[in-house]
Amino acid sequence: MPQPPDSAPTYDYLLVGGGAAGLSLAYHLAQEPRLAAKRVLLIEPEAKDQNDRTWSFWADEPTPFDGLATGEWANIAFRSPGFAQVFALGQYRYRTIKGLDFYQFVHQALAARPAQFTVLRGRASQLENTPAGVRVRTEAGEEFTARYAFDSRPPYFEPRPAKHRYLLQHFVGWEIETTRDVFNPGVVEFMDFRGEQHHEARFMYVLPFGPRRALVEYTLFSAQVLAKADYERHIVDYLQNALGLADAEYHITAEEVGAIPMTDHPLPATVGAHIINLGTRAGRAKPSTGYAFRRIQAQSARLVAALAATGQPPADPTGDRWQFRLFDTLLLDIMQRRGEMTRDIFQQLFEHNPVGRIFQFLDEKTSWADNLRIMNSVAPGPFMRSIGHVLRGRPGRR
Ligand SMILES: Cc1cc2nc3c(=O)[nH]c(=O)nc-3n(C[C@H](O)[C@H](O)[C@H](O)COP(=O)(O)OP(=O)(O)OC[C@H]3O[C@@H](n4cnc5c(N)ncnc54)[C@H](O)[C@@H]3O)c2cc1C
Repeated sequence: MPQPPDSAPTYDYLLVGGGAAGLSLAYHLAQEPRLAAKRVLLIEPEAKDQNDRTWSFWADEPTPFDGLATGEWANIAFRSPGFAQVFALGQYRYRTIKGLDFYQFVHQALAARPAQFTVLRGRASQLENTPAGVRVRTEAGEEFTARYAFDSRPPYFEPRPAKHRYLLQHFVGWEIETTRDVFNPGVVEFMDFRGEQHHEARFMYVLPFGPRRALVEYTLFSAQVLAKADYERHIVDYLQNALGLADAEYHITAEEVGAIPMTDHPLPATVGAHIINLGTRAGRAKPSTGYAFRRIQAQSARLVAALAATGQPPADPTGDRWQFRLFDTLLLDIMQRRGEMTRDIFQQLFEHNPVGRIFQFLDEKTSWADNLRIMNSVAPGPFMRSIGHVLRGRPGRR
């Protein structure tokens, strides 16, 4: 193996990937005065000048990017054929941030600290631990060394061991403007399961930015993506039949397309002593929901607190607890085996629990007592069968 030249530029931290997780960590680092002398290199191949996604999340406390929110709501609706209710969120708020606003905001914060942050447009091709730290090579042949690298490149799921479950949260969303008032701007349509399920979990998700403007998204939790025209057909159907909109009464102003992994495939938080994984690569997309943004902020805060206090990342970079991983696996098993049951499970959750408890549970912050209340609120049969599949070490089949 050829040795790298001794002159490879050296940093304290290398951030590989500058999407949600890489930029969140960069921003948290920039906010920590005890780390102001650290030199950080961010390597990202894309200009990040497109609004390629919107992040929504719920929170019962201020979060670092609240000032960027383009929408904030105090109510959400859950709908299924057997149950429909609007829930006041109490101390929680549901917020939305546009990806482009976030990318620009963080890049401005980094540009204001040129001695601390360097941003390189490039693609990392190899990361390796060395006795003293880490070495990163780019496709253009550059080499850099650092004490720690934080890697948020998209994860690989190959090979796929048969004992794990592989689904996606996949969706197409249209931002539309209408010629008359149709949306209630005070209520997010969080999950509208009233449409056909086709043996899967399929729902509409609507973020109303005003009475005449909303993001309307057809969303599935399942193994296979659809043809784009299929999502679009369901959106049109919802606009016509649920909202009563004629073709001439709306136009599309933007589109969002995505597929987020929902899996219990192991996604380790570290690779050796000096490479720490971030974001989706570190399992921050919650396996049973696909929500990741707040988990990414929590991981960034946890890493920066430890780096500032001890000079090292925490021994456990995510703080995940095994019982929530088990709940995720059980729900994934049901979704993969009998996807249409997902609707019933979410209905039972919303029927029998205060919304704050559901959010806390999905945030993995509930006590044992509340976990028990949650488990008691849903029909046990499907979960018992999935426990059997987990014990046998192989996912259930339809
Ligand atoms: C359309 C969409 C909507 C979403 N909406 C929500 C939501 O509402 N709420 C929520 O909580 N979550 C949401 N998510 C899930 C999750 O929050 C996002 O996927 C989030 O962007 C994940 O952050 P990340 O840093 O892991 O990945 P990304 O943000 O995708 O960042 C990875 C970065 O790595 C870069 N990269 C790739 N290869 C290399 C390389 N070789 N070297 C260096 N860099 C590289 C990429 O260019 C990219 O910028 C959404 C996801 C999508 C796709």
